[in-house]
Amino acid sequence: MIWMWRRILLITHDLGVVAEIADRVAVMYAGKIVEEASARDLFREPRHPYTAGLLRSMRKGGATRGARRLTVIEGSVPDLLSPAPGCLFAPRCPDVFDPCAERHPPLVTTIGPAARGPAASSPDPPADSAFRKVACFQFDAAPEAPRSPDGAGWDPERGR
Ligand code: SF4
Repeated sequence: MIWMWRRILLITHDLGVVAEIADRVAVMYAGKIVEEASARDLFREPRHPYTAGLLRSMRKGGATRGARRLTVIEGSVPDLLSPAPGCLFAPRCPDVFDPCAERHPPLVTTIGPAARGPAASSPDPPADSAFRKVACFQFDAAPEAPRSPDGAGWDPERGR
């Protein structure tokens, strides 16, 4: 028997399509990945303010003409030829605070909702789908990882 693993990289602005077919999602703003997560975590709990804005701007099922105005993300994309020193999303971000103007937030690995609660104290590493990355000063990198009984542990910085 021959196993063939196929992956599809889909680049789109249509979050409805993403919700239907994607397992993992990377959200880009101004040419950089600002959030990466399993599709389930991303749609259930967006962390980056840009992702949250995109989800708010989606047409909800059953909406009809004139029923409800779509929410827009105010402002426009930054000038990438002379970018500001801080977070590129800062001029449009509803959550902007002091550090955002000083430097660009790094993309750090955090742990998604699937690894919280009772699963957080498990000696087993979270499933790969639990890892998510966010580039926003509101979120810190994953805390020290729990160790497995054999001492091998797992590395939260390994990414997904
Ligand atoms: S780093 Fe600051 S400006 Fe950038 S998305 Fe996060 S809160 Fe908003």
